[in-house]
Amino acid sequence: MNDLHNYRGRFAPSPTGPLHFGSLVTALASYLEAKSLGGQWLIRIEDIDPLREPPAATSQILNSLDVHGLFPDAPVLFQSRRHGAYHAAIEHLLSKGLAYRCSCSRKQLQANHGRHPQHCREVDAVTPGQPFAIRFALHDEQCYWQDQLLGPQHQIVRAEIDDPVILRKEGFFAYQLAVVVDDIEQGITDVVRGSDLLDMTAQQLQIYQALEATPPRWLHIPVIVNDQGQKLSKQNHAPALNDHTPVENLFNALNALHQKPPDSLLGGSVENLLKWACEHWERDAIHLTSR
Ligand code: GLU
Repeated sequence: MNDLHNYRGRFAPSPTGPLHFGSLVTALASYLEAKSLGGQWLIRIEDIDPLREPPAATSQILNSLDVHGLFPDAPVLFQSRRHGAYHAAIEHLLSKGLAYRCSCSRKQLQANHGRHPQHCREVDAVTPGQPFAIRFALHDEQCYWQDQLLGPQHQIVRAEIDDPVILRKEGFFAYQLAVVVDDIEQGITDVVRGSDLLDMTAQQLQIYQALEATPPRWLHIPVIVNDQGQKLSKQNHAPALNDHTPVENLFNALNALHQKPPDSLLGGSVENLLKWACEHWERDAIHLTSR
């Protein structure tokens, strides 16, 4: 178990667009959890998918975090500069037989009920020149872990059918691998993120074990939804945060996290609001947030 005194948390946005209210809530929750425990808080830009990343998104996100007073305790890490580390991790997993090459198309897998027609896990059936993905070979199908907010979790991973891609056919590294390699590199002890990623956790736990690293504690907060009950996201056209009203945005984010900020904070500064929020942070109140 990680040492609480060395708490290191992080916010790790994918720069698919500017920050919206839902991402501010996640950033703020991870920041307050770290700061209220006397820990460090880092920022990592998960820019591993250039096809989904508008060129201005990274600077917009970093500027928004800045305007909202959410300053990291170490330089920002960019996944686009970490390819060497991901390569090394993949080589390690391949050499231990914990990952395999697979050239199956989505169609082929679907037609075969998700099972690899060429038994990719057992036989390396990739022919030279053929594009292939690399998949992590999941093991224990029953996974148990503890969420800091939601309590004991039990997940069944469907090995082989769900073996996650860690290097995509197009040559891009995949989220499941990069997030684990970088949380290890940055010494992250505690991950606070949206509950839309809850289902990813069991797979990530297995990747930690395969890389012989200590997993962090996880805390999943309810995602913020729009009037139609959909997660706020770029795909659902969530509006960008208005960086001219940071105090109001943070105040609303605290309310969304059920922290009951007093109205008097609205007339003050960002620093003042964050100071209040740190001193009054109540993790268990988040439970009341709508899912
Ligand atoms: N980059 C991911 C996202 O923006 C979050 C990764 C994580 O917190 O594990 O959804």
